[in-house]
Amino acid sequence: MTQHTEVAVIGGGQAGLAAGYHLRRQGLDFVVLDADPAPGGSWQHMWESLHLFSPAEHSSLPGRLMPAQAGETYPDAGHVVDYLADYEKRYDLPIQHGTHVNAVRRDGESLLVEADTGTWRARAVISATGTWSRPFLPAVPGRSAFAGRQLHTVNYRSPADFTGQRVVVVGSGNSGAQIAADLALDGRAEVTWATQRPPRFLADDIDGRALFDVATARRRALEAGRSDTGGVASLGDIVAVPPVRAARDAGLLPIKPMFSQLTADGVRWADDSHTAVDAVIWCTGFRPALAHLAPLNLRGPRGHIPTDGTRALDEPRLHLLGYGDWTGPASATLIGVGRPARDAADEITHLLRS
Ligand code: FAD
Repeated sequence: MTQHTEVAVIGGGQAGLAAGYHLRRQGLDFVVLDADPAPGGSWQHMWESLHLFSPAEHSSLPGRLMPAQAGETYPDAGHVVDYLADYEKRYDLPIQHGTHVNAVRRDGESLLVEADTGTWRARAVISATGTWSRPFLPAVPGRSAFAGRQLHTVNYRSPADFTGQRVVVVGSGNSGAQIAADLALDGRAEVTWATQRPPRFLADDIDGRALFDVATARRRALEAGRSDTGGVASLGDIVAVPPVRAARDAGLLPIKPMFSQLTADGVRWADDSHTAVDAVIWCTGFRPALAHLAPLNLRGPRGHIPTDGTRALDEPRLHLLGYGDWTGPASATLIGVGRPARDAADEITHLLRS
C-alpha cells in the first residue's frame, strides 16, 4: 500500500534530524525513513573512545544545545547518541527506524520512495544518508595478497582487539590520528601510522570551533559573491583532541610515509625495506551513500550529484544534506548541518506552497 507525504527524509542521523526540525517549523507533512533500528545515525557505530573535535555547546543541532558531558570537554560518541535520541523524542519527529530505502523514482508530480517496508509517494525528498555505509579503500598493490586482518575505520572498536599485534594505521585525517593514538596509548599493540603526506595538526588551541568559523566565513564570502576564502583545508587536517595530543607529545605516534605495497605477511616501504604486520586499519575516508538515488540518473563528477546549495540541479524536488562541503560548508558536522537543513526546508516550502 502506497503512503502519501509531502516530504520524505531519507536518513535519520544528525542531518535527517536537522531537516526534520526545520520541516516541522515550516508546518510541512513529512516522514523520516532510517535504516538503523535505533537512533544515533553513524555515531552509534563508532568506536568506544571516539571524542568529538568540538566542545558540546559547539556540536549542537538547531533548537537544542548539546548538554556538556561530565568531566569531558569533548564529548564521546555515546554522549552524541544519547543527544540525538533525545532530540528525536523532544521534537517528536516522525521517524520510522529499521526502514531501508532502496530506490527513489520519478512518477509524474511525485517522487516514489521505495523502502523495504513499503512505498511513499512524496512531493519532495531530502536525502541524508551520510557516508558511513560507503567506506573507501584505496587500490594499493598487494591488498588482496595480504594474509593478515584488514579493516576500515567503520569496523574499529577497541585496542583490545589488537593485543600483541603489529598494526599499521593508514590515513592522515582525524580518524587515522584518533585510532593510532587509541592503540598507542593503550600499549597492547605495536603501532605504525602510515600517511600519504605528513599529517597536518591544527594548532593545539584550535578545535572544531575554528573549523566551523572558517566554514562560515567561506559561506558568507560565497553568498556575497566574494572570492572563495578556501575551506578548512588551509588550516590543517587534524584536531589535536586530548588523546591525540597525549600520544603525539609522548612520541607514541611513529609516522611513516605510506608503504608502496602489501605482501602476504606485511608491508613494503618505499625504500624497499619490509615490515611484518598482523593488521592494517584503513582510515581512508568515505563516499556518499547515494545508491538509492540511482534511478534518477543525476550522478555527476566524483560520484557527487550536482547541486545548487542542497538542491539537485536536475531534480528540484530533491535536496541532499550532510554529505560534506559540496552540500554546504561544514554540512557534515553537527554544528554545520543546521543552516543547510533550514535552507532546504525553506526551498521545499516555497516549492510546495507557491
Ligand atoms: P549518518 O550519521 O551516517 O546518518 C545517516 C543515516 O542514514 C543512518 O542512520 C543510516 O542508517 C541512514 N541510511 C543510510 N542509507 C539509508 C537508506 N538507503 N535508507 C534509509 N536510511 C539510510 N562531526 C562533528 O560534528 N563533530 C565531530 O567531532 C566529528 N568527528 C567525526 C569523527 C569520525 C571518525 C567520523 C567518521 C566522522 C566525524 N564527524 C564529526 C562527522 C559526522 O560523524 C558525520 O558527518 C555525521 O555522522 C554525518 O551525519 P549524517 O546524518 O549525514 O549521516
